[in-house]
Amino acid sequence: MDADEREVSPEQAFSLLGNDTRIGIIQALWKADEPLSFSDLHDRVEIRDSGQFNYHLNKLVGLFVRQVDGKYELTFAGSQVIGAILSGTYTQRAETERFELDANCPDCGTELTATYEEERVTIRCETCDEDRSTFGLPPGAFEGRDESELQRTFERWLLNVFSLMADGVCLRCSGKTIGSLITESEYFYSNQEVGIEFVCERCGDRASGNLGTYLLRHPAVVAFHYDHGIDLTKATVWELEWLSGDNERLVSEAPLVAECVVTLDGDELTLTVDEELAVHVED
Ligand SMILES: [Zn+2]
Ligand SMILES: [Zn+2]
Repeated sequence: MDADEREVSPEQAFSLLGNDTRIGIIQALWKADEPLSFSDLHDRVEIRDSGQFNYHLNKLVGLFVRQVDGKYELTFAGSQVIGAILSGTYTQRAETERFELDANCPDCGTELTATYEEERVTIRCETCDEDRSTFGLPPGAFEGRDESELQRTFERWLLNVFSLMADGVCLRCSGKTIGSLITESEYFYSNQEVGIEFVCERCGDRASGNLGTYLLRHPAVVAFHYDHGIDLTKATVWELEWLSGDNERLVSEAPLVAECVVTLDGDELTLTVDEELAVHVED
């Protein structure tokens, strides 16, 4: 592939994949764990006609498959296609499912439920009639996990996606994300004054959350919990009472500054977050 061919439109890239033989070639190369010669690869893909096989293989070479020393292997884009196939996002229509979670609403104590619908998880308290969080999750997450493992899968996925966006990397396209404080959002709880949003400059994907979710990884917050007997790498975030959003408020509108008070066993830790999302720990 020369430099001129490097830019391929999404339409071209997807149309290249609209064929069973080509998907078969990509899957065979993935399973092989090593580069395959033309004949080895042909043996593993169900197509008798050698000319047809060659035709489809050549369509993939460049973007999804590369040739090294006369053998074939997947490019990074090729392995990304496998990720998409395996995670099931494009191939499975997951049915609506409902799970009881082993976690209680911090406001009323009712057991929280998770609903999985159209590839989105919604964590909800039926008694308060309030959604606590909602986020996309590929159907592959359900394979090989029983119901008791799903809660942690939901939670870690959510926190890691948020964390990746907060670190400036878009989960969807690896583009650069920009974070800011927001004072209005359709996802706000009633009474919520302020939140945080990350937007990808490249694909426009967004992730929003409350201040607390962003602060969960701040060393002062991690240490404060640790000192109160809570290991945040193991805790169920939906059960953290201070994380319900009532403890967050706008301190100033120009410049935008917000405050979050973490309360554990009657002790308080106060943090402020400015427009650039810089965190300051109050004494
Ligand atoms: Zn509740
Ligand atoms: Zn993006």
